[in-house]
Formats: sequence, C-alpha cells, structure tokens
Amino acid sequence: MAESMTGLKRTHRCAELGISNIGEKVTLMGWVQKTRNKGGLLFLDLRDRSGIIQVVFDESKVSAKLMDKAATLRSEYVAAVTGEVSKRGGAVNPDMLTGEIEILPEELRILSEAETPPFPIESDSKTKEELRLKYRFLDLRRPDLQKNLMLRSKVARIAREFLSDEGFLEIETPMLTKSTPEGARDYLVPSRIHPGSFYALPQSPQLFKQLLMCSGYDRYFQIAKCFRDEDLRADRQPEFTQIDMELSFVNVDEVLDVNERLLAKIFKDTLGVEITLPIRRMTWQEAMDRFGSDKPDLRFGLELVNVSKVVENCGFSVFSNAIAAGGSVRGIKVIGQGEMPRKKIDKLVDFAKDFGAKGLAYLAIGSDSSIKSSLVKFLTEDEIASLIKAMDAKEGDLLIFAADSDKVVWDVLGNLRIAIAKQLDIIEKDVYKFVWVTEFPLLEWSEEQNRFTAMHHPFTMPFEEDIKLLDSDPGRVRAKAYDIVLNGSEIGGGSIRIHQTDIQEKMFEALGFTKEEAQERFGFLLNAFKYGVPPHAGLAYGLDRLVMILAGVDSIRDVIAFPKVKDASCLMTEAPGLVEDKQLEELGLEITR
Ligand code: ASP
Repeated sequence: MAESMTGLKRTHRCAELGISNIGEKVTLMGWVQKTRNKGGLLFLDLRDRSGIIQVVFDESKVSAKLMDKAATLRSEYVAAVTGEVSKRGGAVNPDMLTGEIEILPEELRILSEAETPPFPIESDSKTKEELRLKYRFLDLRRPDLQKNLMLRSKVARIAREFLSDEGFLEIETPMLTKSTPEGARDYLVPSRIHPGSFYALPQSPQLFKQLLMCSGYDRYFQIAKCFRDEDLRADRQPEFTQIDMELSFVNVDEVLDVNERLLAKIFKDTLGVEITLPIRRMTWQEAMDRFGSDKPDLRFGLELVNVSKVVENCGFSVFSNAIAAGGSVRGIKVIGQGEMPRKKIDKLVDFAKDFGAKGLAYLAIGSDSSIKSSLVKFLTEDEIASLIKAMDAKEGDLLIFAADSDKVVWDVLGNLRIAIAKQLDIIEKDVYKFVWVTEFPLLEWSEEQNRFTAMHHPFTMPFEEDIKLLDSDPGRVRAKAYDIVLNGSEIGGGSIRIHQTDIQEKMFEALGFTKEEAQERFGFLLNAFKYGVPPHAGLAYGLDRLVMILAGVDSIRDVIAFPKVKDASCLMTEAPGLVEDKQLEELGLEITR
C-alpha cells in the first residue's frame, strides 16, 4: 500500500552524502535498487539520480515492525527513509560514491510499490534496446543514461550562460511555420482553420534568425528543436536539437572566435579538457585532398595522396581512363601492413564497394622488398617504382588505390581510412581534435534534381572574387561557410549570409529558382531585406551529436530522453498513430493509402 509523504521532507539526494555528514539526521527518497536480507540484518540500496546509498536495518537497533516493513521492499519500490548517517559498519566499498557511510534508519515509508521491471535497472545494460525503448521511463532510471542527460543539461546551461554573457539574446522562433531552406523534406502539420493548407515544422530557425537580425537584435541564440523528414541513418533523429545563433556586423573571424571560446568553456567545464585556441582551420579542398572528407578525423594519419600525375599515361586503363574522364587516382599508405592477408584486403575491397568503388588496386611491399600487387600485370617496373616513390612507401607497407571521379575516390578512401584506423586500433583515445573546415563550395550538382543545389543553404555568401563564376562555372564558387569538426564528426556549421539583393538574386538564379518561386518560398525574408538589413552571419551546433561526443557514447539515442528508432517511430508511445475520423474530417483530410 502506498503511504503519503506528509510530514517528511527530503533533505539530500542519496549520493550527496559523505563522511562529513556522519551523525546528521537525514531524509532520503528514492527507488529500491535491491535488498539483501541476512536475517537480523537487512541491507537496502536506495537509488536516486545522484547514485546509491546503503541503508542498514539492524534488528538489534530498530523495532520489529520496522524490520517487517523493510522485508516487504522489492526492487523499484519508491521509499522514504529517515535516519542517521553513520560510518560503515562493514567493509568500505570503494566503487560507491557513498561507500564509506550508511544510513541507520528510524523510519521507513513505502511511497509506491512497483511491479517487477522487465529488465534490471543498471548501467551497461545487456537488455535489447528495443525492449528498453518500449519501457523508456524505466530505461531512463539507469545511471548511465541519467549521467548522459545530466551532462546534456549542463552543456545547455553552459551555452546559455556563456552566450548571454557575450550579449546574445535568447529568443524563441515558431514551430508552426513555413518551409525552411535546409533542403530536407519537411514535416507538415495540416491546418484546421485553413483546410488544405499546411504548416511546416522548422528544419532550423534559419529564416527567423535572419529576420531577427533585420529587426536589430544583433546577437540571438536559441536551443531549438528542428525537424527533418529524412530516411534515418544510425546517428540521425527526425527531431533533434541545435544550439543556434546569429550575429550582426561580424566577419568570419569574429564568429569563429566567440564559438571557439564557447567550445573551450564547454569542454573545460564538463570534461576538464583544455582546448588550445585558436582552433586550426583547413579549407574544404585541403580536407578533401588529404582526408577524403569534409569532416576529417585528425586523430590519425593515413592521408590520401593524389598519384594521378604518376599514372596518367600508364597501361592500366582503369587508372588512365578515370583521369581522362576528369577524375583522379589516389592512394593511402598503411604503414607496416604489407603482409596483410589477402582475405583482409578483399574485405577492404568489399567495404569500398559500398561507397561506390568499382574496385581497389593494392600494392604490398614485403619486408624483403618483394611486391605483391594487382597492378604488376599492367604497370612497368618503372611505373611501379614511381608509384612507390610518390606514396613515400617502404618495405612492409601496404598501398591501396582508388580511381574514379574525385567525388567517388574521396568518399571511398575517406571511409576506408577510418575503417582501417579502427581495424588497426590506431585512433588515439581521449583526445579532441578540432578543426574548422572553411571555403566550402557554394553549390553542388544534384543528379536527382538535375540542377545545382546550395551546399549549405541559399543565403550563404559566396566569396566576392568568385561571384563572376556564378554564371560560367558555378561549381567552382567558394562559400563563406564553415563547419566545426571534432574527431571526424561535424558538430556545427554556419556561414556569412548574403545581405545584398543583387547577389541574392544571382544565387537564386544559379539554383534555378525563378523570381516568383523565390518570392513564394522566402518572400518575407526578401521583403525584410528591403528595409535595412545588417551584414550578418551565424552558426548552429547539433547538440545531440556534441553531447554524444562529450559523453563518449556511440548512439545518439543515449543522449536523448525519448528518442525515435530508425523508422522514425517511438516504441514507447507508438507514435506516429492513427487519428479519429472526426479529426480528419475537421482537417478536410482523407487517407488514400
Ligand atoms: N541553419 C543552418 C543549419 O541548420 C546553420 C546556420 O547556417 O546557422 O545547418
């Protein structure tokens, strides 16, 4: 039977107590982790979000009634205990925050009974995630998830405090809005009052934060929910959170500076890690050329080398044709892996195929300088020697080459280098390698849409000196966009915005929007720009991804209280769900499939 807590007041959280509290009378409230009844002595582990404390019911010290009551406690009952903090009678438990103390109870109240949970409430759960997500309210009791969510709260608090101190205003922007420009599919909300019309949930607060700049708020931030209806990959969620900001009257250096100091504060105050500032910068071109990725992981080498010059006229048509078609041949050198068994190399080839490679060429140099290679049939001895020289390879090294369009080669080798680094276990632990990737291409060609699309979004400023290329060679225009990358993950990105009507018009043209289309989608922003727009810039972090890295976890679901699974459903609430016919009628909607 559940008792009331009338007359009781919780004085501490369980693990807030230590030896300095010995002798104090305290009242704790929490969940029963477990009990051990040793006949005459009953040990209760009481748990709350701070941790666990041991309560000892000793029949020589407490009433028989209290002993009997304690014996009815079961896992996950909610209990209140009033008693005295005492030095541990038994052995000290060094693994417990409260391992040197225990509570000698005077009163026990059972505030709520509990059914046996479908899985044990413990860190490092072995229970299948599906079951845990179905009972997320229980899963969230587990200490490791509680730690992650407390960390997340701390990061949000640090960001709020830091940005407020730097003169940013926290301003909310609407959830029910029009389509925003991030280029993903929108989540739509039907309007009852305007049948046939829909709101879009924001993919980001992009347009509104730019409007706020037009309105003179000059520094804005928001911890904002964003929604993108994309096919989910392992580390994506349909709704996610950004730390979003926008600033007026600033250049790139100023945006990066304030953000570097924000990151430094977050890392110092959560992990105690000092980030050396300024954070290094690398152009997109360099990142792609050296690491095959616009989010390079700088914790290890295995850099790409462009060997196109060496092999452009060689007898291997896969190489020479790729180059003739405007692509490239690039390689990576895996030091000391010249003896890698064929089976393992084949695995790498299979892996590369997933990223669009038709195949990989390899060249293994034995410790005796012997050469094993799929290339020997096609290349002359001299060509092989030049290739080895270009790759700066030695006895015992393994060289892997890909030939295709730049895009495919980068993607294949960029992913391969990560896979190999993981396989060889050469990624340094507990290091945080930050890099700003700058000078992104403004536009990228979309085969699907048969037009250029904005790599970041349509409001990103091109380099002034590249604007003339917008007509002649749009793919080569560089953008004043920047991403902040940490250990191979993009944790944030932003850009200087276009605030000049003529450049914006050119940009829309390059994107294939007619004036009418641009007006229809973004008219309110363009309109605002007519009335005095300050130069402005901004950036947004993916909070979930950032917390994931800080928490050292591999799954984004472990840092979100109520995440969705890969098919965008919630296993606990079973959302999305059907609605009543009446609701559909009110909305003027009919389900056709
Ligand atoms: N709105 C952008 C994004 O979500 C960030 C920015 O440009 O500020 O990626």
